[in-house]
Amino acid sequence: MSLNTQIFIAAVIGVVVGVLLRLDPTSGFFAGSIYGLSIISGIFIGFLKMLLVPLIFTSIVVGVASLESGRQLGKVWKVTLMCSATTMTLSLILGLAGAHLFEVGKGMDITLFQQAMSQYHSPTQNLDTSSFITNFVQNTLINPFKAFSDGNVLSVVVFAILIGLALVYGGKKFQYVRAVNEEFFNIVMMLVSWIMKLAPIGIFALLAKLIAKEDLTVLSRLAEFAAVVTGTTIFHGLVILPCLLWIFGKMSPWTFFKGTKIALITAFATSSSSATMPLSIRCAQENLGVRPQIAGFVIPMGSHLNMDGTALYEAAAALFVANLIGLDLSLGQQIIVCLTAMISSLGAPGIPSAGMVTMIMVLQSVGLPAEAIAILLPIDRVLDTVRTVVNVEGDMMVSVVVDRYTKEENIDHLPNES
Ligand code: ASP
Repeated sequence: MSLNTQIFIAAVIGVVVGVLLRLDPTSGFFAGSIYGLSIISGIFIGFLKMLLVPLIFTSIVVGVASLESGRQLGKVWKVTLMCSATTMTLSLILGLAGAHLFEVGKGMDITLFQQAMSQYHSPTQNLDTSSFITNFVQNTLINPFKAFSDGNVLSVVVFAILIGLALVYGGKKFQYVRAVNEEFFNIVMMLVSWIMKLAPIGIFALLAKLIAKEDLTVLSRLAEFAAVVTGTTIFHGLVILPCLLWIFGKMSPWTFFKGTKIALITAFATSSSSATMPLSIRCAQENLGVRPQIAGFVIPMGSHLNMDGTALYEAAAALFVANLIGLDLSLGQQIIVCLTAMISSLGAPGIPSAGMVTMIMVLQSVGLPAEAIAILLPIDRVLDTVRTVVNVEGDMMVSVVVDRYTKEENIDHLPNES
C-alpha cells in the first residue's frame, strides 16, 4: 500500500477515533487516551524537529555549492538568482494576500497549543524596527555550534550559505568537504524517508487528539485553508509565471505548457521536484529550446533552491495557524514570516512533504508552536502535489528566461551536465 493511501486511511481512522472519544470527555478512558495520543504524536513531531537543523544545513550547502558550475557561467547564475528571487517574492505576496483576503482561520481560538504557546516567548514580539535589527544581528551572527545546539535555524542558514560560498570559491581545494556534505545530505534524506514511514501513525494520533479536544469547526477552517492555498498556488502557476515568461522569456504560455506537460504531470504524481528533475531538464532542452548547459545548471539548482509553491504555502500556513490560535501578527512579523518562508523553502529538498518539515522553522520564527503542524499534516500530501507542480514549473520557466538573457555568453566550454 502506498504511503499516500496509508496516510489517508490513518487520517480517516483518526477522525473516527476522535469523534468516539468526544462521547465521554470526562471519563478516565478519555484522559488516558489523550495521554497516549500525545506521546505518539510527540514522538513523530520530535523526530521531525530532530532532523530540521541537519536537513536545512546540508541541503543549503549542497544547493549553494551547485553554483560552482555557474561561477564559470558569469552572468548566468546572477540572472538565475534574480529570477528565482523575483518569482519567490511574488509567490509569498500572493500567499499572504490570499490568506488575508479570505481570512483563513479567523475567529477561532483553539486551545490545543496553549501550553506550548505559554512556554515560548517570541524574540520578535513587541520590538520596534531598530531593536529588531539589533536583536536579529545578535541572535543570528553567533557561534554556529551554539546555533546548532539551540536549534537557531536562521543562524544555521546564514552559516550554511557561507560554507556553500566557500566551497564554490575554493573549488577543487575543498572537494572532499563537499563530497562529505553531499553524503551527509543523502543520509539525512534517508532518515527523513524513514520518519515519513511513521507519518500514518503520527497523523492518526494528531488528528484523533485534535478532534477529541477541539471545536469541530476547525475542520471546516482547514478545508477553507486548503482551498485558498490551492487556488492561489494555481493562480501563481497559471497567471503570474506565464505572464513573466511571456514578458521576459518571450515565449507563449501555450508553447511552454505543451512542451512541459510530461514534467508537470510527473511532478504532480511524485510530489518531488528532485525525482522530476531529469524530465524537467529534457523538456526544457528538447521542447523549449533551452541550451543544454543552461538547463543542466538552472534546473538542478532550482530543484533545491527555487520553490515558489513551497514558499507560498508556508507563508499562508503561518498566517492560518496564527489566526487559529487567535494571534494577530504585526506587519513586522509578517515580513519575518515571508523572509523565513523564503529561506526555509531554500532549505527544503525536492522531496515529498519536505516543506512540512521546514514549516516548523517558519512557525517558530514568530513564536508559533511547532506542534501546530499537527493541524496541517493531514492535508499536506494533497497540497504537496500542486505546490510541487508550481515548483517544477518555476524551474523550467527560469531556465527559459535565463537562456534568453544570456544568449551572448560563451558557455561552450562547460560540459553538458544533463
Ligand atoms: N515536495 C516539494 C518538492 O519536491 C517540496 C515541498 O514539500 O514543498 O518540490
